[in-house]
Amino acid sequence: MALLKIVKVGDELLRKKSRPVEKITPRIIQLLDDMKDTMRAHDGVGLAAVQVGVLRRIVLVETERGELIEMINPEIIATEGEQIDIEGCLSVPDKCGITKRPMKVTVRAMNRKGEIYEITGSELKARAFCHEIDHLDGILYIDHAKMLTQEELAELYEEE
Ligand code: ZN
Repeated sequence: MALLKIVKVGDELLRKKSRPVEKITPRIIQLLDDMKDTMRAHDGVGLAAVQVGVLRRIVLVETERGELIEMINPEIIATEGEQIDIEGCLSVPDKCGITKRPMKVTVRAMNRKGEIYEITGSELKARAFCHEIDHLDGILYIDHAKMLTQEELAELYEEE
């Protein structure tokens, strides 16, 4: 198990466009495994490769522990509806904001065996798909979120 360092907001790497993966190599497999360990260690529901310093179009989403979704070169091919909810990011510590996302999102991606598949998620999963795939184009949720104030954040944690 290897934990990778998370790149934080302010680092210009997060603003760069990630390049497609052309071939699944042992290095890519290792990266997927290390990203999984890193995401779980931080209780994240998603992680993009750029967040660990690798400018490749690779994204993990795990909204339910044990239901790991690995997406290589993911593309959103359909969206439906709308949701407004709270969002956060491992690269933007101790902050949350309200964003508008589609309610349902279908992604086409490649798995670690090199097979193309499609997956549809709704609610939190749809939100995570959009958030993580945005990272691959240098977009952060704070670019379009209404950020919560310190007071609102404190209330949010009290409710939990
Ligand atoms: Zn993020």
